[in-house]
Parts: sequence; C-alpha cells; structure tokens
Amino acid sequence: MTRRWPVVSFDAGGTLLEPWPSVGHVYADSAASLGLGPVDAQALNQQFAAAWRRPSAGTFDYSRSAWADIVARSFAGLVPQPDSPDLFHDAYARFTHPSAWRVFTEVRTTLQTLRDAGVRLVVTSNWDERLPRLLTDLELAPYFEWIAVSAELGFHKPDSRCFQAVTTRLGVSAEQILHVGDSLREDIEGARAAGWSAVQICRRSPTHASADALRSLQELIPQVLGPDRAATN
Ligand SMILES: [Mg+2]
Repeated sequence: MTRRWPVVSFDAGGTLLEPWPSVGHVYADSAASLGLGPVDAQALNQQFAAAWRRPSAGTFDYSRSAWADIVARSFAGLVPQPDSPDLFHDAYARFTHPSAWRVFTEVRTTLQTLRDAGVRLVVTSNWDERLPRLLTDLELAPYFEWIAVSAELGFHKPDSRCFQAVTTRLGVSAEQILHVGDSLREDIEGARAAGWSAVQICRRSPTHASADALRSLQELIPQVLGPDRAATN
C-alpha cells in the first residue's frame, strides 16, 4: 500500500507545546526576579493577547526587537518601565528553558508511532533561533528530520516560500506532505496554498476551527497510517 503522506509536518506552538503555566506567569516571574513584582499574571496574559491581536502583528518577524515590543506592551502600566532591557532579556531567556513549556500529553507517543511506521517527520514553525535548542532540551528534536524555523528561513507562515523551503529540503513533492497546526491562517491556508495537505489541531473549542479539526494529535495516526494503523510501506 502506498501511503498518501510519506511526510508529516508539525507546527510547534499550540500544536506540540504551549507556554506553561502561561506567558503571563513566566513574565510575572521575570518581573519578580528583578524586584518589580508582584505583577498579575492574568493582566499580563490579557495584554500579551491584545499585543498579538494588533493588525500589525500579522507582520511580526520573530526578531528580538519584535519580541521586545511585545514584552513592553504586555507590561504596559504594570511596571514602572515596561520597555526595560533587563526585563526583556530576562523574559526572553526564560522561554529558552523547558520549564517555561509543556509538551502536550499525546505528542511523544504519536511521534513515536509515526516514526516507527517509517513516516518522515519535520517541524515547520514560525519561531526564532531558540526553537531547535528548546526542542532538543525537551527531548523532541530526535523525532524530526528537520526543524524548519521561519526566522532562519526569512519567510514566515503563511508565506508559501516557508513551506516550499521544506519541500525542497526534503526532496519530495508538495502533495506528499501533510501539515498539522493550530492556526487556520498560518498553518491550514498557508500549507494548502503551497500545495500541501493540511489539518487543524484544535484542543479547546475555538470559534475558528475547521469542521474536520483534530482534537488530539493521536487522531493523525489512522489518517496517516490507515484505519488499522498497520500500514507498513
Ligand atoms: Mg501554532
């Protein structure tokens, strides 16, 4: 039997892992460590989310200066100097550590099952140079043939060039790749525009979920390997 997708690509944030306990909690720890606390984690979460929702966030380039702007907006009104370089550097560094992240519970078993069946796995992520090291420290990197980081490619999802770089690197045709991610715009629309198949992962009950969205990555296994999960080539 010929498998429909010999390659599966994963988004990272919201698909494999999430900030833990939340971005606001990690930022609050930064403030406390610098003697600026206590700062309310939920207030930080709300301002962080608002910073991401700004229209200009669609052109976010994952550079340190772009992150510094997000951090400053998140802390606005909550500390005396929200654009403090020390505060930014501490917050930025905390997200390089595994302790600031949680890998979703089904991720490792799903990746292992797909790898054992001979499926080639990659990450295609809007992230910066911190991601490969983070995935190594979380013991996820060995599952993946390549960790494609948008800031290193120079193109961010949904830009087709980001997906095309992966297609070229793997030496396969676009229709041989299934991408899974949590963002309709970046992951689903972006991947499909590049000729890939795509399926959304939607663990909570978001308003923008596609009808065929997965609730768990485990649901990928029958889709990729067949309903009996026993396909071998
Ligand atoms: Mg994501």
